[in-house]
Parts: sequence; structure tokens; C-alpha cells
Amino acid sequence: MRKPFLAGNWKMYKTGTEAVEFIKAFVPLLGSLSDREAALGVPFTAIAQAAEAAQGTGILIGSQNIYFEKEGAFTGEISAGMVKAAGASFVILGHSERRQFFGDTDLWVSKKLAAAVAMDLIPVVCVGETLAQREAGDAFKVISGQLKNSLAGLTPDAAVKLIIAYEPVWAIGTGKTASAAEAQEVHEHIRKELSSLLGDKVAEATRILYGGSVKPDNVASLLSQKDIDGALVGGAALKPDSFAQIVKFGG
Ligand code: PEP
Repeated sequence: MRKPFLAGNWKMYKTGTEAVEFIKAFVPLLGSLSDREAALGVPFTAIAQAAEAAQGTGILIGSQNIYFEKEGAFTGEISAGMVKAAGASFVILGHSERRQFFGDTDLWVSKKLAAAVAMDLIPVVCVGETLAQREAGDAFKVISGQLKNSLAGLTPDAAVKLIIAYEPVWAIGTGKTASAAEAQEVHEHIRKELSSLLGDKVAEATRILYGGSVKPDNVASLLSQKDIDGALVGGAALKPDSFAQIVKFGG
């Protein structure tokens, strides 16, 4: 049984103080987290305060990126060990905004993934096609390539905590959501690819999240699909009330 994983991606929003205010307002709105996991991917500068505020609540705090080297002359970068020490337990890797604006490639994602695994961070690896790629009929091919190259070097044993997020680029921050059936089709494809890359056991256990304009009113139908095991949520995770509704989907 795959436990639903509902993660917010705050992008470049919220200071540490604002993160603490959010968590204080959010926790009383949540029901029991025994059958699901709630997580917040926060800016680097908010990790420590957010992790402290979330202590004992079951909410996981994570970062939205890392650099793959352990330490060194890499001005402006942050390592897996640094985010872990600050209180992160997961990391979002290869988000389409990082691929689009900061040049993250599948090769870099694979190196960051290895660094995350070495630090025992839960890796949330993002894949997804652009509108042009979808319209050209290339969505499956693009996603297969991203998975093969981003997961290169990962062994089945190291993949125990792996989470994949399918985020069609055309649905991120646009208000356009893939229909539940469209998303399920891709999630099923991703699980098949995971099976050929890492074996059936890993494919069955790996949670595959959907991301792209997830809101309180569409989360339940998306998550009712067989291969959709959670959500990665941008805009709707910035307000305690809407993210709490998303986490409590179906309840
Ligand atoms: C995201 O940032 O990963 C995302 C899916 O954003 P939004 O929910 O705003 O589309």
C-alpha cells in the first residue's frame, strides 16, 4: 500500500518567520496524518525555522534543490548535508523551473539524486513534458528519457525512498490541469518504466505524485486514480486553508 504524499512547493515565497506563521495556522486545520504524509518544500532560508515549528506534527520539511558536491568552492550553492543539518528530510529535484531557468539537466539531476540518497534525504524527482512535446505526441518518449537519465546510477536498494513527481509543464501555475484520466495514463507509463529500470518491487512501492494546478476541488479525483499516489502543489500550498483541504482530500 502506497501512503499518499501531499507536498507543497513554496518556490521563492516565504521567509522563515512566514513559514512558522503558516505552520502554526496549518496544523490545527489538519486531521490525522496516520494514513497520509504532508510535506512542505520551503526556501533554503526557511528550512531551520520551518523544521523547528513542524517538530512533533508529522509534517516533513524539505528543500527545493541541492548541489551535488559535498562542499567546496561553489559560491552560492547548498549541499545535501547542509539542508539535512538544517532539518530537511526530503528534496525536490529537477523541477521544471530549475530545468527551464537554471539549466538543470537530467545528468545534474542524477548527480543530485546520488547526493540526496547518500544523505538519506527522500528524493522527489520531477519529470514532465512541455505543451509542444505533448502536441507532437512525444510526451511518453520525453518522460521515458527523463526517467532513464535522471535515475541513471540508482540501484534498486538505493531507490527505497524514491518519489517521482509527474508535472506536465503546461499545467504548472497555469490553472490548466491534466484530466484525471490523462494524468493516470502517464503515471501508468512511469510505473512501467520504473519497473524496467529498477524492477517490479521498486515500481510497485514508488509513489508517483501529480503536480500542475492541483487545487482543493480537483485533488480527490486525481488521487482516485490507481497510479496517482499524491500531489506536488505550488500555488495552492501557499495558504494554510487551501493546502489543508488538499492534504485532507477524501476526508
Ligand atoms: C509546482 O510548483 O510544482 C506546481 C505544480 O505549481 P502549481 O500547483 O502552482 O501549478
